[in-house]
Amino acid sequence: MAKILACDFGGTKLTAGIIDLGGNQWLGKERICTQRGLPGEGELRLMFALAERVLAGRKPAAIGISFGGPVDYDRQLVRRSDHVPGWEGVPLVDIFAERFSAPALMDNDANVAALGEYVYGAGRGCRTLLYVTVSTGVGGGWIMNGEVWRGARSMAGEIGHIVVDPAGPRCLCGKNGCVERFASGPYMAQDAVEELKKHPEAGEILQRTICEYGAGGEAVSRAAADGDSLAQEILLRGARALGLGLGNAANLIDPERIVLGGGVTGSGASWWEMVRQTAQATMLADLQVSIVPAGLADEAPLWGAVVMAQQLMDRKHS
Ligand SMILES: [Zn+2]
Repeated sequence: MAKILACDFGGTKLTAGIIDLGGNQWLGKERICTQRGLPGEGELRLMFALAERVLAGRKPAAIGISFGGPVDYDRQLVRRSDHVPGWEGVPLVDIFAERFSAPALMDNDANVAALGEYVYGAGRGCRTLLYVTVSTGVGGGWIMNGEVWRGARSMAGEIGHIVVDPAGPRCLCGKNGCVERFASGPYMAQDAVEELKKHPEAGEILQRTICEYGAGGEAVSRAAADGDSLAQEILLRGARALGLGLGNAANLIDPERIVLGGGVTGSGASWWEMVRQTAQATMLADLQVSIVPAGLADEAPLWGAVVMAQQLMDRKHS
């Protein structure tokens, strides 16, 4: 039975899995968290080690790769990673193809995860869907009529950088008031730390969760769930920004469904309610779009990588 190797370069973790062509269960899967500051080359070496372990001497027939950053799909090059240095212009697909003597195909993680959810997860049964991941960043992937819509420069779906407040704070992309600037885990945590500096007495629970879980989105979510009003304010501001982005995006494309994944979506009922309410209020009344949680959690990019490898195999046989 032909084997497929699926690899996911996430912002903070690497995952590799092996599966039979046409199968729906992993034969092997491994994940590791990466050290902050580890350059792209180090990540690549770690991923090779993971892949060798899951392959356990077996040879893949095709490889699907999900990359956590902008990808030039037509040329199959990494553009960059916004979180890991040293990925600029890396021909990741050629490197994998040479190392494992098998054809490989790569796309950015949001597109790949969209494909994964579409085929195996919460997007099953619809033809047009928007997948959005809200975690280290906010990324989106469009499936239109059953295929990933990449646009002219493989940049489509960047919902994280829809501006929802032009007078808002600066985003890493250089613009002000993007969805990602309010809704992503690291930015919510950054805002939380800033607010705590100004009003140390305001967020006692938040202070404690940041000590315990580090200055990330999880600390903000947990503090909000524990009743910290400062954390709740920051979390709901992020949810509102995301809802505005989703509503505007829906008006443009009219998807059947919006699937939300990523760690921040685990922030509880009030987060979801604010996202849904704001999106609904932003959408035209004629639209009917359900906003649902992802079905594959953080495995969506890995399953999407399987779909891409299968597409490679189909191409070979047609
Ligand atoms: Zn931005």
